[in-house]
Amino acid sequence: MGQKLQSTDDVLREALEANGQRFTEQRAAVFRFLMSTDKHPTADEVFLAVRQDVSVISLATVYKSLETLVGCGLAVKLTYGDGSARYDGRTDPHHHARCLACSRIFDVAGTLPSDEIHELHDRAQDFHVTGYRLELTGYCSHCADSMTGKERIRA
Ligand SMILES: [Zn+2]
Ligand SMILES: [Zn+2]
Repeated sequence: MGQKLQSTDDVLREALEANGQRFTEQRAAVFRFLMSTDKHPTADEVFLAVRQDVSVISLATVYKSLETLVGCGLAVKLTYGDGSARYDGRTDPHHHARCLACSRIFDVAGTLPSDEIHELHDRAQDFHVTGYRLELTGYCSHCADSMTGKERIRA
């Protein structure tokens, strides 16, 4: 989370205009929320949060705003096997760890050594590789604690 010299609204305005899109209060609210959370929310979760700031916003507008942000490179869409999509306001290279019990997604900093990625590219042969995604799966500390019955009473 580096310090930004520009305000979130300025960053958004610039990116939207560069992509021929208009700055709207709804898009700004969606973007502000996405930048303020590390929870990788679904469109529904964004809608529930943003609705409190912007009274006139529909779920459809939230969906469209999220897709616009992804199109402008301001957010990343994560899709999963069960068809659910989550949105990430963090666009620098990082990986994810997904809890199999509560479905929460945690950021994991860092990149893999590029020669290992290149080796995988080579093994994919005639498959045209455009990127890769590493996802760690397991249990977050909260879920792991509950499962082993070691959950401590918090002071
Ligand atoms: Zn969990
Ligand atoms: Zn992330």
